[in-house]
Amino acid sequence: MRKIFQYLSVVFCFLACYAQAVIIEADSIHDIRNHIDPETLVIFDIDNTLMEPSQTLGSDQWFYHRIGEHKAKGMDQQSALEKSLSEWMSVQSITKVKVVEEGTVELIKRLQDEGYTVMGLTTRGLGLSTRTIFQLESLHINLSVTAPTHEEVFFINNHGVLFRGGILFTAGTHKGLALAKFLHLIEKAPENIVFINDKWSNIREVEVICEKYQVPFIGLRYSYVDEKVANFNHEIADVQWEQFGQILSDEEAESQLLEVRS
Ligand SMILES: [Mg+2]
Repeated sequence: MRKIFQYLSVVFCFLACYAQAVIIEADSIHDIRNHIDPETLVIFDIDNTLMEPSQTLGSDQWFYHRIGEHKAKGMDQQSALEKSLSEWMSVQSITKVKVVEEGTVELIKRLQDEGYTVMGLTTRGLGLSTRTIFQLESLHINLSVTAPTHEEVFFINNHGVLFRGGILFTAGTHKGLALAKFLHLIEKAPENIVFINDKWSNIREVEVICEKYQVPFIGLRYSYVDEKVANFNHEIADVQWEQFGQILSDEEAESQLLEVRS
């Protein structure tokens, strides 16, 4: 009997060790190479990980700035969030984008060429799905090439969630639950998952689900944009927002600010 317990404890220890879930800081997207094997489901966040707007207006950090502005004017949290989201979406509808880090396009292409299963996972909602795919295409990123499925998949995760063009649009819902439901629907059980994202909270949502289902998980908390986010210049963004309809570059907005001051 004692031997059986010893045996079981070894098995459980092995499972616990094997099914490890960890979150690691990564200051470059290329760090992902150090954590994947051919069986890995490689998942990329989109905003502030793969791409960002060409100017401050429309950035992730601008979105949070707008929430703060609305709340400062007396709006409650939910209304401020919804208003900021509609403003952010209006900018997304016309803004150009750029890659966050040099070499990202080549990295994704190479992973796809090597046969890795690659997909996107974003807070963005399905209303922005076509626009998001178009934005990524403008950068020569196509996340559908080696995605876990080429079908479009729609399901409810509190709100409607859509998998389209290799990207799971989670519409602000729990990312871990959305991913688990998606993988269940397409009948895929990845051997292990690596998820790179600039937000720790988003990674944590996937980590808890991987822990629950004992799927080995590595979350890479992408810090490449941290400095830029910390140095967010609301004055430039405010000038750009006042004149939205056209989009001023950061340089144009800055020279207008300097003119006003001189
Ligand atoms: Mg992000």
